[in-house]
Amino acid sequence: MMRTGILLYYQEGERLRDFPQALEGILEKENVFFYDAYYPFKPPSSYELEPLSAETLYQVHSPEMIEEVKRTGEFEGALLSVTGTVRAAEKIWTNEIDNAFVFTGYGDHHAGTDFFGGGCYLNGAAIAIQELRKRFGAKRFAIIDTDAHHGDGTWEIFGEDPDVLYVCFCSGPYMEKNNKVDIQVPHKVTDERYLNLVRTNFLARAKVFEPEIIFWNWGYDGTQGDYGDIGLTPEAHISIARELRTASEGISGGRFIIVLCGGSRRDLASYLIPRIIRILAGSGE
Ligand SMILES: [Zn+2]
Ligand SMILES: [Zn+2]
Repeated sequence: MMRTGILLYYQEGERLRDFPQALEGILEKENVFFYDAYYPFKPPSSYELEPLSAETLYQVHSPEMIEEVKRTGEFEGALLSVTGTVRAAEKIWTNEIDNAFVFTGYGDHHAGTDFFGGGCYLNGAAIAIQELRKRFGAKRFAIIDTDAHHGDGTWEIFGEDPDVLYVCFCSGPYMEKNNKVDIQVPHKVTDERYLNLVRTNFLARAKVFEPEIIFWNWGYDGTQGDYGDIGLTPEAHISIARELRTASEGISGGRFIIVLCGGSRRDLASYLIPRIIRILAGSGE
């Protein structure tokens, strides 16, 4: 059984309004560890998460960009979001947990070295990768991005970095350079076709690449009825979660972090997230 970390900060807004209550029956499991940022509601198992320092952010983002983010008023939420991702990675390397689900208020993939936008202010997976390199000497990393949109920020940050495999499933044409790959997803794709694209274009590459950890930039905005609708049903996300979680055991020793990215529907969040966390924790659905 896997030891699964859940990292959460309490945020305003509609999509996660049912959390953490919707995790009832999960938080109580002995292999599930709940870590929260400094907010009043604290289940007995919780630990405080220390926000990242500016120096940690500067490993990916320029100081000028961080100042710009501060002017948007979204800095605190973005900081707590990426703190969850980085702390999850640290806890995996210090053998406190095996895998993790990170609740964020913002996505990662439109945040680059010196730019941000599209609801992304800081790039949590990218910062976590630089931190793992610096603190633990980790060498090889994979990111799968199934948000409906193109991850321009992640492409830019790791564009010249062959030790990061990044496979982005989006509407743009096929591109491949330095282990950065864009896979074009047809509009109105079926779940089965999408799943096959993931197997062929991410899992096959990851098996050869042998990353020490897999990050999943998981957006559900491509689900029918959400703002990036490409035709997926909710079950597509469950199937991908199951495949990635199983494959991670062979590919990266089970080291696997799911970072919540795009998606706005509260009903989908409440339906999908508890199921996906149960898959992570190895207790079925
Ligand atoms: Zn998106
Ligand atoms: Zn893309």
